[in-house]
Amino acid sequence: MSIFSKIVNGEILSYKIYEDSNHLAFLDIFPISKGHVLVIPKKEIDYVFDMNDREYTQLLLFAKKTSLAIKKVINCNRVSLNIVGLDVPHVHIHLIPINSISDLNFEKQKLTFSKEEFKEIAALIREAI
Ligand code: 5GP
Repeated sequence: MSIFSKIVNGEILSYKIYEDSNHLAFLDIFPISKGHVLVIPKKEIDYVFDMNDREYTQLLLFAKKTSLAIKKVINCNRVSLNIVGLDVPHVHIHLIPINSISDLNFEKQKLTFSKEEFKEIAALIREAI
């Protein structure tokens, strides 16, 4: 079972933002910017292009809804949408608020937030949905 399935099941703590029956949005625990959110299908599929067309488009629509909420409450030029997937074998979209392309460096030092700060960010975005 992937670490993200454990998050879906509540076996691992996460800062959940929003979910429907097939998808979940939660904060990345090692964010590269404030408001860095992961959007996943609850069904565990490793590679995004193995999803069927319906699953794929539903995931993107869920990501769009989440992105609009992030943009409302996090100060940024754009919310970028990124799929990398080299570490965790469970499809996930990174929604990352950015001001410039240099903000999109997955190798830079990650930001740290306290539990309270993570909770606040998750609540802010949740309330904007
Ligand atoms: P990728 O597979 O796209 O390279 O990266 C996986 C992402 O999942 C990383 O940004 C990493 O910070 C995030 N991540 C890994 N483990 C956890 C976890 O236990 N909880 C949360 N919320 N995010 C995680």
